[in-house]
Amino acid sequence: QKPVPSDIVVSRSCVPKPIDRLAKEVGLLSDEVELYGKTKAKVQLNIIKRLQSQPDGKYVVVTGITPTPLGEGKSTTTIGLVQALGAHMKLNVFACVRQPSQGPTFGIKGGAAGGGYSQVIPMEEFNLHLTGDIHAITAANNLVAAAVDARMFHEATQSDKALYNRLVPLSGGQRKFSPIQIHRLKKLGIDKTDPSTLTEEEITRFARLDIDPSSVTWQRVLDTNDRFLRKITIGQAPTEKGYTREAQFDITVASEIMAVLALTSSLEDMRQRLAKMVVATSRSGQPITTEDLGVSGALTVLMKDAIKPNLMQTLEGTPVFVHAGPFANIAHGNSSILADKIALKLVGPDGFVVTEAGFGADIGMEKFFNIKCRYSGLRPHVVVLVATVRALKMHGGGPTVTAGMPLPKEYVEENLDLLRNGCSNMRKQIENAKHFGVPVVVAVNAFKTDTEAELDLVCSMAKDGGAFDAVRCSHWAEGGAGAMALGQAVQKANVIVAIRIIAQKIYGADDIELLPEAQHKVELYTKQGFGNLPICMAKTHLSLSHEADKKGVPTGFVVPIRDIRASVGAGFLYPLVGTMPTIPGLPTRPCFYDIDLDPETEQVNGLF
Ligand code: ADP
Repeated sequence: QKPVPSDIVVSRSCVPKPIDRLAKEVGLLSDEVELYGKTKAKVQLNIIKRLQSQPDGKYVVVTGITPTPLGEGKSTTTIGLVQALGAHMKLNVFACVRQPSQGPTFGIKGGAAGGGYSQVIPMEEFNLHLTGDIHAITAANNLVAAAVDARMFHEATQSDKALYNRLVPLSGGQRKFSPIQIHRLKKLGIDKTDPSTLTEEEITRFARLDIDPSSVTWQRVLDTNDRFLRKITIGQAPTEKGYTREAQFDITVASEIMAVLALTSSLEDMRQRLAKMVVATSRSGQPITTEDLGVSGALTVLMKDAIKPNLMQTLEGTPVFVHAGPFANIAHGNSSILADKIALKLVGPDGFVVTEAGFGADIGMEKFFNIKCRYSGLRPHVVVLVATVRALKMHGGGPTVTAGMPLPKEYVEENLDLLRNGCSNMRKQIENAKHFGVPVVVAVNAFKTDTEAELDLVCSMAKDGGAFDAVRCSHWAEGGAGAMALGQAVQKANVIVAIRIIAQKIYGADDIELLPEAQHKVELYTKQGFGNLPICMAKTHLSLSHEADKKGVPTGFVVPIRDIRASVGAGFLYPLVGTMPTIPGLPTRPCFYDIDLDPETEQVNGLF
């Protein structure tokens, strides 16, 4: 096999198609797209309204086993999978990924565009600046930080009256509240809009937030790893009159504003979330919000473009949304809800949206289900769990893996014992994913040093551990062609999910059982490209269950799927449930005993 050049060499070897052409291909109208050069565009949110009645596509989330510090290929697999489904299996697809932070890009881990022949391109544009969303968050976050300290300073150095006069300045001889100030007055229970009517007591309450300096939780941010900013003292210039305070910087992607961007559902929702952020506590124990500081409107203004998802493409020309990138430890580590929702509409009911959850399944995927899905109302059809031989060997007791250092020999030579031991981590992560009631497909991301026996062992351990399927993938070395088996496994899982949903939601079954012939057919039909057809259940009509004699609302039963057949021309797959025959039999005394023709009148007798 030819050696794979470095990620940047692969990325540059491919000329991206003009982004306006890609936008057209995926069904975006020209006035819904804002071009940022030739390879990036923002998509306006009005598309949500236009596609409101369009059914969603299939939703796939990519997660991983507990990784080594090098990463096990979740991003690479996300991109490889959409390349397989889109460029090779000719389905409508979208990948939804996070925008990388400059921290890891210039720090330890490097970029996050995927790798090898499964990447988002151009990787320089993807990894650096993109369309400025992270910079907008930095600006918005630091505006809040500046507002907090300035407010505490002004309150400490001015009388109530002086403060009030500056907060509500004279303009054309009259004082006037801004809309945000009227909101604050309402919150304080002061139902007045004319500044001249406030009592002394109301003036004090309005003018003083009375922030306890030791309670400030809002930090300044920048998007660079910088250890010397972990603890700082601010306010040291003589102009700040000794009001110094110990503070710290965080990385921008850890800002609450990034989490708001990732979880928001509309401009109005973002505005409300940005106004509700609590930055400190007052001396009397009240939470102080960005709205109390009067800064929430300005935040929305700074974030108005960042809310629009960014369109880019893979090496094989399939579309990608790059949007939001909250840290996976202190925040929820998932790309934006808006990008996923728009992509699900754009691909339509037969298409696939593959979204990635950061870190391992215990962190990114758990937060995907418990936070992201809770706010979005979406539910994935399949979980793809990425596993590598090297990480499993590490869990099996292999020596420490350090970024930038050569891998110890255990990782480059066959070692089935270490690997077998380490599969316990994969088994637990499969259980974690199944806990959310979604089938798990394990993608074994193959490295060139992995042996056949090692890759086979991981696949069989994954299936033993409860995975719906486990396939090896070589998309890093071969692009989408190397993830075809994964694409088929994902489609197969989708067929089963569709059948299970009908059995559980409509019939009230506990589960379905796929008998061998049905399993074989799912495999065959997905391979033949029919995996996306709707399901038409062949079941008895005499009971809600598969057994005609079970009346009322039967419970506690499992629906056996004996076989699956395809009516491709008509456009559906029909699973045969239980003993449901496809041709009825005659009873001992059929109706035909009574049916005859009167030769005189030519009348048909005996039909009823
Ligand atoms: P994650 O998203 O899980 O953190 P990435 O997809 O970013 O991991 O991959 C981490 C690094 O490993 C990238 O530099 C990528 O190019 C590399 N990589 C991924 N899969 C393979 C593979 N099969 N062979 C060699 N390198 C790989």
